[in-house]
Amino acid sequence: MSGEASGQRCVLCDESISAHNDSREHVIPEAIGGRVAVRGFICRTCNNGAGHTWDAKLASQLHPLSLMFGVQRQRGSTPGLAITTTAGEDLVITADGPLTLAKPSFSEETGPEGIKIQIVARSMEEATRILAGVKRKYPKLDVDRILADAQMSTSYPKGLVHHRLDFGGEISGRSIVKSVLAMAHHAGIPTDICHDALDYLRNSSATPCFGYYHATDLVFDRPPEVPLNCVSVEANPDTGLILGYAEYFGVQRVVVCLGRRYAGGPVRACYAVDPRTGTRLDLSIRLGFGEAEIKAIYDYKMIPDGAIQEAFAKVMPAAIKKRFEAERDRVMKEATEYAFANCGAKPGEMLTEEHVKKLSRLVAEKLTPFILHNVARRPRSLSVAGPTESVEETGRENEEQPAKKTQT
Ligand SMILES: [Zn+2]
Repeated sequence: MSGEASGQRCVLCDESISAHNDSREHVIPEAIGGRVAVRGFICRTCNNGAGHTWDAKLASQLHPLSLMFGVQRQRGSTPGLAITTTAGEDLVITADGPLTLAKPSFSEETGPEGIKIQIVARSMEEATRILAGVKRKYPKLDVDRILADAQMSTSYPKGLVHHRLDFGGEISGRSIVKSVLAMAHHAGIPTDICHDALDYLRNSSATPCFGYYHATDLVFDRPPEVPLNCVSVEANPDTGLILGYAEYFGVQRVVVCLGRRYAGGPVRACYAVDPRTGTRLDLSIRLGFGEAEIKAIYDYKMIPDGAIQEAFAKVMPAAIKKRFEAERDRVMKEATEYAFANCGAKPGEMLTEEHVKKLSRLVAEKLTPFILHNVARRPRSLSVAGPTESVEETGRENEEQPAKKTQT
């Protein structure tokens, strides 16, 4: 996708755009799965500035959802998110699902039998690194033997994870308005007549030109259970309004008014993407609002009670089920591998009755924490309450406990 670079001015600083300062601006930020970019829209300096401020704020507000749904980014992956459970455990939610410890732990105690050192590391590599440090202090330490005896163990956090989804505000709001304006630029609507948007983006004290909208579903052909991201514009010569709509992960829904003096031919354009795969979606969005409705949207009058929760309920169960199944499969695989490795049978050997008994005992032993965790607390629960939605998550915690040794 490309915009016309000639004669175009940066929508943010009004600098004229040339081949030297032109930039590729993602219509939907890359961090939340956007792929399509426009040119001839903002200058490189403004692109960097807006990326580090407005877009970064939006991405951070949507961070828990990016991890929950597993955003496929064009470049890189979603960074981990540090959380503290209700039981005070410091953990990190990672992009590929499991929870890990936020940091390794190390303790050293002097008792009558010598010095007891306990290390909990997140991987064998980390354990090896920590032990190398310990060996500098205690040269007699047999690092190889300790590592050979070290066991990988998995446990579930005791507490729940509450994500606060603080969506909104003026900083991320500017990212949203910029996205809709980029879509207008892509659709061939002249950005210099989008006065409401230009005013808002260029002046820190300007009135916001967006509002949240949950009164109806504006996506006519919404695919079920898809946490879609979309940006659309509609320019209507009858009302003069240039309107836009942005939706994030199927749940955060925003109507934008870019300008009010449109006199060209009718335009309607939409870019939508399934952030889990990067697949483009073909959607039709109708924004037949007039001035009075725009005012009501800006005044928070189009958010009926329970509407946001309802939007969450449409996309969350599928995501929760997918993560539950991935965890179940992982646990099964790990339990089976562990049982075969420890049942006493050599590879290729016929299993005796004794081996089979031991196998089933070992599989059951390894599956027990998963079963207890999920029976006791049903996969994951979601509680959404008005503007401060919270998603409870009780994922898995990966840890390794390699060293519990006495050194004299
Ligand atoms: Zn600029």
